[in-house]
Amino acid sequence: MIEPNRQGEVWIFAEQDDGKLSDVPLELLTKGRALADELRVKLGCLLLGDDVAPLANDLIGRGADLVYLGQNKRLKNYQANPYARAICDLVRDRKPQIVLFGATATGRDLAPRCASELRCGLTADCTDLQIGDHEETSSRTVHEKLLYQIRPAFGGNIIATIVNTHRWPQMATVREGVMPMAEMNGQRRGEVVPVKVDVQPEELVLRLIDRHRGQRKVNLKAARIIVAGGAGVGSRDNFKRIWELAGALGAAVGGSRAAVDNGFIDHEHQVGQTGTTVRPALYIAVGISGAVQHQAGMSEAGKIVAINSDPEAPILQIAHYGIVGDLNDVVPKMTKAIRARV
Ligand code: FAD
Repeated sequence: MIEPNRQGEVWIFAEQDDGKLSDVPLELLTKGRALADELRVKLGCLLLGDDVAPLANDLIGRGADLVYLGQNKRLKNYQANPYARAICDLVRDRKPQIVLFGATATGRDLAPRCASELRCGLTADCTDLQIGDHEETSSRTVHEKLLYQIRPAFGGNIIATIVNTHRWPQMATVREGVMPMAEMNGQRRGEVVPVKVDVQPEELVLRLIDRHRGQRKVNLKAARIIVAGGAGVGSRDNFKRIWELAGALGAAVGGSRAAVDNGFIDHEHQVGQTGTTVRPALYIAVGISGAVQHQAGMSEAGKIVAINSDPEAPILQIAHYGIVGDLNDVVPKMTKAIRARV
């Protein structure tokens, strides 16, 4: 067990694939920087792989003070055992107070292994992180400057704040897309700290024979405008109204879970707690009631327009502009008006 180290750094696992950084460490750098500044400690990134040194500049330019660089030919393709061991060795050696991973397939595989090996807690799928104090009700002990690990719980009906008082490092995975990406500043200076990572052949329990990459058909996270349809659209066929409006606006198409479950649109378009978290400049919600689980994925949009026949629909409470009406009337008129302007 690692004792709390109040001077410990804040660390981010810099996930990369094939020499390209994933989006999520770049998002975590924004929050990691703020946490490290508040704690007055350094922000470090763990960069593991083969021939990944050029990525260190990007991490430093976006907010890291230190990049722990572990390179080894055997780390070229991600495998849980050597990656987890390398991270645990570094944590034991340098005792960071916070370690953050993206809640990606890799992060969800790696973080629990590290937490189990290090006997510390892990909060999965956080949507926010803050620093704050915590008083134990039984002993009245006050723990200062803990990491508040904030995430929806009980199906999104409450927002839970979780703290680790004793078993450190405080470790969390963070959902993709919930934090803005850190801006690049080529003037920033930081330090690259090479670390030796030996990987024994027996640690590589998988042999990679071949890799096939499926093309992502929709990139909701990158879209500036999203038109999303819900159960109110009524059918896959009627969803063409959503596609047409999106086409006129040059927007991506999203859907609520009910729209996905009803087969109106494929799952990769789902927005919300169990879909993608988006923050476009404009989000048009059509025939979507605005359940908390849907709002969890879109409430950070710059402007929200809601079209709904029910004036009591919760989405209208958070919309900047609400249109109460039948989407079958409203949407074709909008599409026509937008097409007439361009
Ligand atoms: P409904 O709630 O049925 O709303 C349909 C809306 O359409 C209504 O407001 C109605 O007034 C309106 N409407 C109907 N006809 C018309 C018309 N002709 N013109 C205009 N408006 C019309 N949901 C998500 O979206 N994303 C998630 O990631 C997600 N994750 C979940 C995770 C968990 C653990 C759980 C328990 C639930 C999750 N849900 C999620 C489901 C969520 O609780 C809601 O059930 C879902 O969002 C409802 O989708 P909807 O708004 O399309 O459908």
